[in-house]
Amino acid sequence: MVKPFVPQLVYIEPRALEYPLGKELKNKFEKMNIEIRETTSHNQVRNLPGDNDFQKYRVAKSTLVVGIRKTLKFDTSKPSAEYAIPFATGCMGHCHYCYLQTTMGSKPYIRTYVNVDEIFDSAEQYMKERAPEETRFEASCTSDIVGVDHLTHTLKHAIEYFGKSDHGRLRFVTKFAHVDHLLDAEHKGRTRFRFSLNADYVIKYLEPGTSRLDERIEAAAKVAEAGYPLGFIIAPIYLYEDWKEGYRILFEKLEDKLPAYATKDLTFELIQHRFTQPAKRTIQKNYPMTKLEMDEEKRQYKWGRYGIGKYVYKKDEQQDMKDTLGGYIEKHFPEATLEYFT
Ligand code: SF4
Repeated sequence: MVKPFVPQLVYIEPRALEYPLGKELKNKFEKMNIEIRETTSHNQVRNLPGDNDFQKYRVAKSTLVVGIRKTLKFDTSKPSAEYAIPFATGCMGHCHYCYLQTTMGSKPYIRTYVNVDEIFDSAEQYMKERAPEETRFEASCTSDIVGVDHLTHTLKHAIEYFGKSDHGRLRFVTKFAHVDHLLDAEHKGRTRFRFSLNADYVIKYLEPGTSRLDERIEAAAKVAEAGYPLGFIIAPIYLYEDWKEGYRILFEKLEDKLPAYATKDLTFELIQHRFTQPAKRTIQKNYPMTKLEMDEEKRQYKWGRYGIGKYVYKKDEQQDMKDTLGGYIEKHFPEATLEYFT
C-alpha cells in the first residue's frame, strides 16, 4: 500500500507566509519534524541534495515548495475543460511515461500555491466572461493534486467553492487513493472526480509510487458513495503481451466494486500510450531500467504542434484497443458515456 505523501524537504517562499495557508503549512511541517528551508523564489531551489542528476531527480520528487502563484492567467485545457486551474505543479509519483518529465524539465519538485483566494478570483473572472454558459476547470493538468491534498486541503476548498458557484464546474484526475478528507466536501454535484486506472501490469511496472489498482477502485467506490459524479481515464492504454486479459480484469473488478447507482452517470476517457523523441530520451535518463517499450519502428508517427511529432500505435492496433476496451465498457457499464479515444 502506498502511504500518503510526506515530503522529505520543504522550501517556503517568504511571501507565502503572508497567507494563512502558508503559515499553517509551516506549522504543520515543523510539528512533523521535516527540514524546512527558506527561499526567495522557487527558481532558487537548486541546491538539492544528491551527487548526480539521477539522485537529485529523486530528491526533487519528494521535495515540496510552498509558494505563490504569480501568473493568474489560466491556460486552456481542451477537450475536457475550458481552463486549467493552477493549485499545484509537479507530482510525487514515478510513472515512467509521465509527461511532467518533459514539461517540468530540471525542476521536478512539487509546488503548492497558497494564494488560493486570488486563484479563485481569477476563476470568477473567467466564469463571468462566459456566463450564462458554464465554465469547466481542470485541476490536474500540471500535477496529481489529490496526491498532495491531504496536506494542503486546497482541492477540498476548491470543491466547495465550485459547489457554491452558479456557472463553474471542477474536474480532476488522480492515481492516488488518499481521498478520505474529500468525502464530506460540499461538492453539490459540481465536481467530477476521476481516477486514472490501468491494467495491473502497467501499474506494477510503469507507475511506481502511486496507489495500486485495488486501492484506487476502493477509493472510487467511496467517492461514488459520497455522491460525486465519477469518471475514469484509462491511460495510457499500453499493449503488452496479455493486455486484453489485463484490461478485462480491470473492468470486471470495477463493476464488482462500484455501487450500482454510481454507474448511471459514469464517464470514460481512453488515451493510448504515445511518446515523443525528446520524452524518450528523458525517460531513459530518469528510469534507465524501464520496461516501457518505445520502439519507433513499432509505432505510427503523428505530426504534432511545434514540429514535435509523437509516436502512437499503428492504425489496426488502435482499432483493436478501441474495440476491446469499448466492448468492455459496453458490457460492464452500458449506461456510461465514452467521451473520447485518442
Ligand atoms: Fe505523472 Fe500522474 Fe504519475 Fe504523477 S501520478 S507521475 S502526474 S502520471
